[in-house]
Amino acid sequence: MVDPAECTIKVMCRFRPLNKSEVERGDKYIPKFTGEDQVSISGKPFMFDRVFGSNTTQEQMYKASAQKIVKDVLDGYNGTIFAFGQTSSGKTHTMEGSLHDPDGMGIIPRIVQDIFNYIYSMDENLEFHIKVSYFEIYLDRIKDLLDGMYCVLWHIVPWFSVPDEVMDTIDEGKSNRHVAVTNMNEHSSRSHSIFQINVKQENTATEQKLSGKLYLVDLAGSEKVGKTGAEGAVLEEAKNINKSLSALGNVISALAEGSTYVPYRDSKMTRILQDSLGGNCRTTMVICASPSAYNEAETKSTLMFGQRAK
Ligand code: ADP
Ligand code: MG
Repeated sequence: MVDPAECTIKVMCRFRPLNKSEVERGDKYIPKFTGEDQVSISGKPFMFDRVFGSNTTQEQMYKASAQKIVKDVLDGYNGTIFAFGQTSSGKTHTMEGSLHDPDGMGIIPRIVQDIFNYIYSMDENLEFHIKVSYFEIYLDRIKDLLDGMYCVLWHIVPWFSVPDEVMDTIDEGKSNRHVAVTNMNEHSSRSHSIFQINVKQENTATEQKLSGKLYLVDLAGSEKVGKTGAEGAVLEEAKNINKSLSALGNVISALAEGSTYVPYRDSKMTRILQDSLGGNCRTTMVICASPSAYNEAETKSTLMFGQRAK
């Protein structure tokens, strides 16, 4: 059913609206949208599979960038969706949004809902096992957010019956991210968070089995550290983030080029995601960007990162 050589990488780009402080400062709105797949920043064009302007709704974003992956995972493919961009560019809004509000829900809660809608619609001979794990990678160390211990990669949550329980589990995981952290936003922008869903199906009549898994990744902020001489722990953090994001960029561009050598082993994250990035994979990168002239340099380097995957 699944062709192992078949691997697709899609790159989408989403601009958030100007935020309150950017409006108050009178920042210029710089992206020029020149078609469904192209945006220009100060005359420099960037091409993607799709470009989404600032008034794109969460539902439109989900339908155009993620919904297809749900079907693929249920067909036995592995998939990964990344959100990449500087801090405050809309990564968490895109991946999570507001978990319990139907309009505000981002990609993760909509995927969870769709998986369960699919399950409810299937015939009785199919048995589904859904496993969810949620962890973060900080300084190349893995922290399991569902039981608060370092280095536990696979945390098996008891079978869920309803999507709401999954959302509650995400909330619980997020609160574990708070532990021993003074500034949640600062910390979350310095670590990668990975939400994983495994779906196993078995036809109880024919004993035919199918499994697929999906990684949903909210990456650490891609901004360069201030030029004002970061040192000590802050510098170590920044170097580590740059290293892991460039390792990810190298893996994705090697896959996009069809290289025989893909450098998965260069970072913890690419090692973990290896079997979902190569082989029978579906990969989508959502490049998130600020529209403000104030962030022009970061926005250009963010869009350049996305272009490498094309
Ligand atoms: P990041 O995770 O990249 O640091 P966030 O997702 O937290 O950024 O977004 C920063 C702020 O901007 C949040 O308050 C978020 O709600 C808001 N925001 C981001 N993207 C959008 C959007 N497309 N529409 C409306 N508000 C947005
Ligand atoms: Mg965030």
